[in-house]
Amino acid sequence: MDRFSIQKLIRERLFAEQGTIRREAQNRAVLAYPSPYHVGMSSLGFQTMYRGLNEVPGWSCERAFLPDDVAAYQRAQLPLITYESESLVGGAAVIAFSVAYELEIGGLIDCLELCGLPVLARDRSAAQPLIVGGGPLTFSNPLPIGPFVDVVILGEAETLGPALLRAVEGEPNRDALLRQLATISGFWIPSIHGATLGSIAKVEDQDLPAYSQVLTPNTELSSMFLIEPERGCSRGCTYCVMRRSTNGGMRLV
Ligand code: SF4
Repeated sequence: MDRFSIQKLIRERLFAEQGTIRREAQNRAVLAYPSPYHVGMSSLGFQTMYRGLNEVPGWSCERAFLPDDVAAYQRAQLPLITYESESLVGGAAVIAFSVAYELEIGGLIDCLELCGLPVLARDRSAAQPLIVGGGPLTFSNPLPIGPFVDVVILGEAETLGPALLRAVEGEPNRDALLRQLATISGFWIPSIHGATLGSIAKVEDQDLPAYSQVLTPNTELSSMFLIEPERGCSRGCTYCVMRRSTNGGMRLV
C-alpha cells in the first residue's frame, strides 16, 4: 500500500457518491469516523453532522475514516487524510470524532496516531488540533473517551457542534476556550469537569428529522436516502444504549 493506492480508493469512493460537500473556507474542521468508510457512511448522525458543520460560516468540514487496513498504513507510515481534499487530518483546527460504542475507542486512538498526534489529551499542546468527541457513546458511557479528547458533546450535537466551531473561531486561547465551553450545558471538558458529567444536549424539535447528505453504493445501507422519523425510545431498558436517549423518551417527527 502507498499513498497513490489510497488516493485511488478515495477518489473511486467519491466518484460513486451523490451529495459530497466541497467547500472552501478560512477554517478547517475534520469529522472523523473511527470505523471504516463502509460502516461510517451508514451513520445518519455522522451524515447530519457533516452537513451541519459545513453550514457554519467561515468553516469547511471534510470527512476522514479509520482506514480499512490500519496495519498497512502503519507499516507504510502513511498519514490519515481527508476524503474531500486529501489534506492531512492532523493539520485541521478541529478534529471531531463520532463514536458509536466502546469498541470504536480503539479506532479513535488509531486515527490520532495516524495523524501523528499524542493519543492522550494531556500530552498535546494548544498548537495541535482541538480533539472533540461525540456520538451515541456519549448517551451511554462517555467516560472512557475522556483521556483522549479535549471536549465532549454529550448527547445530540446538531446545535452544539456548530456552536463549538463558532467558539473556536472566537477564542484563540485554548485554555480560555475550554473554560468558556465548560460553562455551557451539554459540553463535558474532562480536564476541567473530571468525572462529573453534566446534562445531555437536546436538539430542538424544529431541527429534526435527521436525513442523509451523501448517498453511496459503498456502504451497508447502500444508495438509500435515510430519514429519522422518530428519535429515541420510550421504554428505558437499563441495558440498552437508547435508555438515555432522547431527552424524555421517543420523539416523533
Ligand atoms: S431495548 Fe432499548 S430500544 Fe428496545 S425497548 Fe428497551 S430501551 Fe427501547
